[in-house]
Amino acid sequence: MLDDPTLGLNDPALLPGAGDFPGQGRLAVRDPASGDLVARVAISDGVGAGAAVDAAQAAFPGWSAMLPQDRAAILHRWHGLILAAKDDLARIMVAEQGKPISEAQGEIDYAASFVRFYAEEALRPNIESVTSHLPHAEMELWREPVGVAALITPWNFPSAMITRKAAAALAAGCAVVIHPSAETPLSALALAELARRAGFPAGVVNTVIGDAATIAGAWCADARVRALSFTGSTQVGRLLYRQSADTVKRLVMELGGHAPFIVFQGADLDRAVTEAVKAKFATSGQDCLGANRFYIHRPIYDDFCARFAAAVDKLTLGPGMSDPDIGPLIHARQIAKQQAHIDDAIAKGARLLTGGDVDAAQGPLFFRPTVLADVPDTAAIMAEETFGPVAAISAFDSEDEVIARANASEYGLIAYVHSLDPRRIYRLTRALQYGMVAVNRTKVTGAPIPFGGMKQSGLGREGARQGLEAFTEIKYVCRDWG
Ligand code: NAD
Repeated sequence: MLDDPTLGLNDPALLPGAGDFPGQGRLAVRDPASGDLVARVAISDGVGAGAAVDAAQAAFPGWSAMLPQDRAAILHRWHGLILAAKDDLARIMVAEQGKPISEAQGEIDYAASFVRFYAEEALRPNIESVTSHLPHAEMELWREPVGVAALITPWNFPSAMITRKAAAALAAGCAVVIHPSAETPLSALALAELARRAGFPAGVVNTVIGDAATIAGAWCADARVRALSFTGSTQVGRLLYRQSADTVKRLVMELGGHAPFIVFQGADLDRAVTEAVKAKFATSGQDCLGANRFYIHRPIYDDFCARFAAAVDKLTLGPGMSDPDIGPLIHARQIAKQQAHIDDAIAKGARLLTGGDVDAAQGPLFFRPTVLADVPDTAAIMAEETFGPVAAISAFDSEDEVIARANASEYGLIAYVHSLDPRRIYRLTRALQYGMVAVNRTKVTGAPIPFGGMKQSGLGREGARQGLEAFTEIKYVCRDWG
């Protein structure tokens, strides 16, 4: 148990009480840095998941009928409360997720930005007219909220993945049922408490903790749940896609990624190295946007490898509250995956430039930032999501070759390109089969952009105006005045 079970919060009431829905037992939340027990959280079962839908279904008519400016006012209050509680929310996140405190604070800003964006978006007029193709007829399109929306989120961004979905759904007029990952329920419950204080009517925002398969299964089968927005692995996304077929739900799927990071001769190499470190090691490597494969033009290959490995050597590793560059990984499965990808790559001819194992002095979940060079395309790390602090580098000779290798993936979330040649950049950005292409920088996301992937990285987009689409239906009305 931690010395201070209140985590040093200014507002300990942000930590959970007894739980809102009928439950069975408690879930232990542990600090990945120390293994200490942080809290025990009441959990729900399938009955609790159904009760949350009952509450949301009952609240939906009133919420969706509210004037948009009244819904927006509540969203603005939620935004203000999240920012006012930023330090507490960041501490909670570090305690259960392990990320460095400055990254956790950055995530709270990012999470809040979606709430403000969609509070404003709720006010935009949404009636369009259609040029009639029928005599005497007047045509209109209305966007209406779909109804109850289920939101299922992962542990790597415990707050932002909730607000990116919930703010859009709530602005559209939907009531929501939220299931956060078992690793990070505390951030979700703190956001729910702030939503309650912001004044969302009872039943509009419901958070259900418990066994993911049971809760998600109940919601997929429930015809009253009209939309499902999921962020997580492609493997679980496929399962939920199948389970939603019988009730033909609207789906948003933000799934896995396997980002290529491509550097051409003539790029600003200092900048490419700095951005490469960010693209690989932010969120301790546990990021769907994390660069998994580094393709470096052969004339600059040795120089890039040496500079990148030197920069990675300087990264610090430690518990999140000490604000290192890299914190612990979330659980032992993640550690095993790093080691398996490294061992496999080395067995197939890769060279280890730095790192390569657990830093036992820090604890069993601290993996040293690792760089592998000369990694062949046959290595597992060149195809599977590593989701940790291991970088794999390979040389390429031509533009056509690197485009083909970058696109040879079931994933299509984001690709990074470093070049100063505008024609080359044009050709690359056209040819890469990715939902997002970042040129000469790493951080490109935010509330105003439509985030999402091609191929098996997902369906639909989150953020921007497009983020509202899954939570609305278009109703076409035709009036005959003849
Ligand atoms: P995960 O798929 O294991 O879990 C995500 C969510 O699904 C959690 O809430 C979990 O409880 C639930 N879940 C797990 N098993 C389930 C089951 N059998 N049935 C129903 N629900 C189930 O993913 P994770 O390990 O929490 O997160 C990492 C993954 O998320 C990576 O693949 C990463 O790329 C992806 N991710 C994608 C984005 C994006 O925006 N595209 C953002 C963050 C993370």
